[in-house]
Amino acid sequence: MEAIATTLKKAKRIAVLTGAGVSTASGIPDFRSAGGIWEQDRSREYYMSSDYFHEHPVDFWKKYKDIFQIKLVGNYQPNEVHAFLHELEDNGKEVPIITQNVDGLHEKAGNNRIIEYHGSLTTATCPTCGTQYGFSHVMEHETPRCTTTYGSHLCNDILKPDIVLFGDPITQHDKAEAIIDLADVLLVLGTSLFVMPFNFLPDYAKYQRNLPTILINREPTAKDELFDYVVHDNLTQVIQKIKQSM
Ligand SMILES: [Zn+2]
Repeated sequence: MEAIATTLKKAKRIAVLTGAGVSTASGIPDFRSAGGIWEQDRSREYYMSSDYFHEHPVDFWKKYKDIFQIKLVGNYQPNEVHAFLHELEDNGKEVPIITQNVDGLHEKAGNNRIIEYHGSLTTATCPTCGTQYGFSHVMEHETPRCTTTYGSHLCNDILKPDIVLFGDPITQHDKAEAIIDLADVLLVLGTSLFVMPFNFLPDYAKYQRNLPTILINREPTAKDELFDYVVHDNLTQVIQKIKQSM
C-alpha cells in the first residue's frame, strides 16, 4: 500500500480507469460483471441495442428507463473513491479519468477531465439535429423528443440516450490512448477488465508506454499479471489506506 502511495505521490499525471466497482459504493447496481443486471436477463442486451432503438424507439425508451432504474439516477452521490480522485486533482495533479460508468458521478465529484467511454445516462441527444438534452428533459416525458424549432418547423425527433448501446461503435478509444500517452502512471479501479476494447487500455499503458501500473479490484481479473501492483480488496477501504500513506 505504501509503494502505491509513493508512486501516486511522485506522479504529476495519473491516468485513471474506473469501472462498476467505483459506483457500487454509491448504491448503483452493477450492470455487466458476473451476477450483474445483464446476466440476470440476457434479453436486456437485445433491448438495449441500437437496432432495437431504431426499430422500436417508443418501447426502447420504456425498457431503457426500467432497466437502468433511471428514476434513481439523480439521487446517486459520489463516494469516497470519487472524492479521492478529486482531491488528487485539487492537490495539483492532472487526473484524467476514463470511466466505463454511465452514472455521471465523476463529474458530480468535480473532476475536470473525464472520458465517459460507454457514454452517460444523464443526457440524451437528437439523432437528427444533434441537440443535447439534460436529465430533467429525459425524465419529463415517457418518450423524450427534440423540442428544437427551425422557423416554424419543430424537429420533434425521438432522442437517443447518450450511453453506448449494444451495436454502437466505441468512439472514445483513441482519446483514451492519447491520455495514457501523457500520463506518468496508470491507476485502474474497480473493474474486472472484462469488456473489450476498454480492457486493451492497460496493455497499451504497459507495453506501448511502459508506465507503472496499479490495479485495485475486489476480485482477481484476467489481466492481473500485467500490473506492477495488484490489490484484491474492498476498494473504499484500500483507498482510505492509500490516503493515510500519502
Ligand atoms: Zn432535433
